[in-house]
Amino acid sequence: MPSLVQYHPRSFCEFRYVYPVVSRRSGGLSIGVNLSPNRQCNFSCVYCQVIAEEDQQKQINKKSDFVDCIRVESELRQLISMINDGSLFQDHWFSRLSDEKRILKDIAFSGDGEPTLAAAFSDAIKCVTNIRKQLCDDSVKIVLITNGTMLHSKHIQNSLEIILENNGEIWTKLDAGTPEFFKKISRSSIKYEQILNNLKELTKRIPIVIQSCFLSIDGQSPNESEIKQYSQRLLSFHTNNIIRIQIYTAARNTPENWALPLSNEQLDSIADTVRNITKLQVDTFYSS
Ligand code: SF4
Repeated sequence: MPSLVQYHPRSFCEFRYVYPVVSRRSGGLSIGVNLSPNRQCNFSCVYCQVIAEEDQQKQINKKSDFVDCIRVESELRQLISMINDGSLFQDHWFSRLSDEKRILKDIAFSGDGEPTLAAAFSDAIKCVTNIRKQLCDDSVKIVLITNGTMLHSKHIQNSLEIILENNGEIWTKLDAGTPEFFKKISRSSIKYEQILNNLKELTKRIPIVIQSCFLSIDGQSPNESEIKQYSQRLLSFHTNNIIRIQIYTAARNTPENWALPLSNEQLDSIADTVRNITKLQVDTFYSS
């Protein structure tokens, strides 16, 4: 039986957009909001769980990209009620959570694709932040998990401000120190420089958390030169607005058998190098 952090279904009951999950990086119970039922993303990461699941199913049910914000609101209200009245913890999986882990840590925009590409992104941010205000403790965070490609867009930036006003955090991806490694991991046509520019501009104005997933590629941990260049990229941003770096490896299946989780020792070694060079807070999340 997988551990709770390895068990990450992005569907729950009859819900379409909202699901409960135990998250390593949130440090406990999180509500995921999936604005990408059609799995829209401009990356195709070698470690993407969504792609791995598609490969296992051998078929993709093409879904509409329409996001029904009224349904998002209704599902979110129901799930928060289930956490507050304890009925969620009668569920086979969530009954395994200890009492102290039954506290909601955050509501996270993540799901089956890149949330900032959803046409309903701005509306969904307003809707979810309103519900958080009405139904949740002030300590509950709103988290946006993004690949960073759309952060230059004005309407996305307006939504980021709303997230930050609601005890929010922006968690944005940076998985490489060089364009070549970026291309190999993201398999995207987006330019690496665009991501760097977005992060540089963003950190001028607002605090962010940087998330970096490293893997064993063809049996090799990322080499020292790659990690040093990655660290220098971090230093090229406005580091006073980097809250922390989350360095992690895959916790579940990847779509590629040549891209595998790193050992705890390999991950620690990367984190040590990054800490030594950047002097920033670096948190590590092992595969299990
Ligand atoms: S950015 Fe996220 S959703 Fe998109 S391919 Fe990468 S891991 Fe998957």
